[in-house]
Amino acid sequence: MTDHWDAIVIGAGAAGLLASARLAERGQRTLLVEKNRKPGVKILISGGTRCNLTHHCDARGIIAAFGSAGNFLHSPLAALGPRELVELFHAEGVPTKIEAYGKIFPSSDRALDVVNALVRRLHRCGAELALGEAVQGIEPTGDGFRVVTELRTLNAAKVLVTTGGKSYPGCGTTGDGYRWLAQLGHTIRPPRPALVPLTTDQEWVKSLAGITIPDAMVRVVDPRLLGTPAKGKRRALPPGVLIERRGAVLFAHFGLTGPAILDVSRAITSSPNPRDLRLLIDFVPDTTPGELDERLRQATVSDGKKLVIGVLPEVVPRRLLEYLFTHAEVPHDRRLSELSKLERARLIEQFKGAPVIANGSRGFEKAEVTAGGVSLDEVDSRTMQSKLVPNLYLAGEILDFDGYIGGYNFQAAFSTGWLAAESM
Ligand SMILES: Cc1cc2nc3c(=O)[nH]c(=O)nc-3n(C[C@H](O)[C@H](O)[C@H](O)COP(=O)(O)OP(=O)(O)OC[C@H]3O[C@@H](n4cnc5c(N)ncnc54)[C@H](O)[C@@H]3O)c2cc1C
Repeated sequence: MTDHWDAIVIGAGAAGLLASARLAERGQRTLLVEKNRKPGVKILISGGTRCNLTHHCDARGIIAAFGSAGNFLHSPLAALGPRELVELFHAEGVPTKIEAYGKIFPSSDRALDVVNALVRRLHRCGAELALGEAVQGIEPTGDGFRVVTELRTLNAAKVLVTTGGKSYPGCGTTGDGYRWLAQLGHTIRPPRPALVPLTTDQEWVKSLAGITIPDAMVRVVDPRLLGTPAKGKRRALPPGVLIERRGAVLFAHFGLTGPAILDVSRAITSSPNPRDLRLLIDFVPDTTPGELDERLRQATVSDGKKLVIGVLPEVVPRRLLEYLFTHAEVPHDRRLSELSKLERARLIEQFKGAPVIANGSRGFEKAEVTAGGVSLDEVDSRTMQSKLVPNLYLAGEILDFDGYIGGYNFQAAFSTGWLAAESM
């Protein structure tokens, strides 16, 4: 059985759903092919099934969340920025709300409403949706493409690949698109888990499972780079610091998780030897070492008989505090008057940068996004067309960009999908 289409879109995630609707609105006979039995599976589980669909900021704020890859997003965001995306959902009957840290969710707290809105628009515009049909390959035919699925062979003048990355493979995202694009000559930057919990074999970390620090600064440091400018930095960082993020840190039975850990995880998963790096956790990011020092000295003057452990910031739970004392080689029952200058310095060092060694991550199974993917150098960011294969377009997470937690990744998927559809 053969079918002819103006445009075939492969993968009904955020990028593919919006792009297909837009293509059909622009008068193109469009078919969206999805291997799952239902569309938008990853949207449904996103944001704890609430879908943090974008971030309350301007295009520059989104670009900044993608580090050096952010430049690629200028044109996609000019075509559909965060404000336009929110307006688009409002127009589709999905009111939104802004939560702490600028995250935007549907007011209903239901990711299903986001998927339903996209599917409604898709059908209204006349695009066709084929579910439960995995694409197996794409072949250029000279005047278009042959798209081979497990059920049939399809033909299209243009193809848009939106098959996503490799994270949460149970959602259908098993990296299929990478293989087809590599066969067509594209460079695939090695896919790595990102926004992923980190593992450790340090027992003291695991023994603290259940402890949450609501506001910490986490830095990933390469001790070998101390004294040289950091590579791939997202903004000016001190020498040796690969990445830093502030937010909650959660101790877990396997290691560490929480927003600040997920945001810096890409630096660990990109390293061939994560054990060479150090995660430095600053438990009191608003207090300088000098202020901590002053606090301890003043407490010594006012009541030197007090235990040191009793006058330290309360943000650190007792169980963790005891480890910090042990690592600083200060007895837990040390009194202020007995605390030496060196011990004070070592304690402050622990508070401002307790080192943890991550031995890896929980992998693609638990990664919210995939770092790596199709090289951005080979895609025209003004149109999302491949620079190597005419009439082949790419959008979403299959591309070599990954942003922080906070709705940035959906915004990038929607914006690149929209721009591709406008250009095809
Ligand atoms: C648990 C979790 C929570 C998340 N929460 C958020 C959040 O709140 N906010 C945010 O911004 N980001 C979040 N993300 C990230 C976000 O989901 C992705 O960045 C986004 O879905 C990428 O969109 P996409 O369209 O590129 O790919 P996807 O949404 O991954 O869609 C790709 C689609 O392609 C289909 N496909 C793959 N191969 C084939 C094939 N061979 N044939 C046919 N179809 C195929 C897949 O089945 C899939 O449906 C979360 C991710 C996870 C895993």
